[in-house]
Amino acid sequence: MEEIKRTVLRWTLANATEHGGKASSKAVMGKILAELPGWKSRIVELSILVDQIVDEVNRMSPEEQQFQIKKVGLPERKSEERRGLPDLPSLQEYKTIVTRFAPNPNGPLHIGHIRAALLSHEYARRYQGKFILRFEDTNPENAMLEMYEFIKRDLRWLGLNWDEEYYQSDRVEIYYHHAEQLIKSEKAYVCDCDVEIFRKLRDSGQPCPCRGLSASENLIRWQKMLAGGYTEGGAVVRIKTD
Ligand SMILES: [Zn+2]
Repeated sequence: MEEIKRTVLRWTLANATEHGGKASSKAVMGKILAELPGWKSRIVELSILVDQIVDEVNRMSPEEQQFQIKKVGLPERKSEERRGLPDLPSLQEYKTIVTRFAPNPNGPLHIGHIRAALLSHEYARRYQGKFILRFEDTNPENAMLEMYEFIKRDLRWLGLNWDEEYYQSDRVEIYYHHAEQLIKSEKAYVCDCDVEIFRKLRDSGQPCPCRGLSASENLIRWQKMLAGGYTEGGAVVRIKTD
């Protein structure tokens, strides 16, 4: 009990000092509960104590308050606001931190992009890792040629520099290779269902008939896709997720 009284007195004195000699019970309660959350279950008891001490302190002269502060001390303040980004968890597992910013060059960067770019850049630098700029430009319909330069210029203007630069459109063969591996290991399948039908099945938690095809049947469909045997959007490769 003596301990909690002392804690309340410290916070009350601190609050009074900040507010022209008059502490507020509400503010003091907030501080105590933040510091000692265990008191939430004894809140009535605590608030009686706080009211009593606040009343005592508020009736003291400024000199008396200063005298009390010298006697009991002010509360140790935990650093209330954290400056900068928190550290990444469980870094020991990784040798290097590699982050990437992957804009679609279909327009200029907006504030949401910038946030992602800054976070990725800052973490890569903090851990002496690598920051990659990768243009997600595999949809020829919406890639705008002038945007590649605009985006790079804006990133430089923000003070961001990247260690490697990639264009997804240059790497389609790599993606094809991985897609084929996924199909072969039955982790992906080629679906040629009508979009509306597929959506209805998905929304009701049902697999579409294509999901049950064998790897070899899917590989035939895959080859047909690459050979242009489907109309645009007529077939898609889907990953088997839950
Ligand atoms: Zn399907």
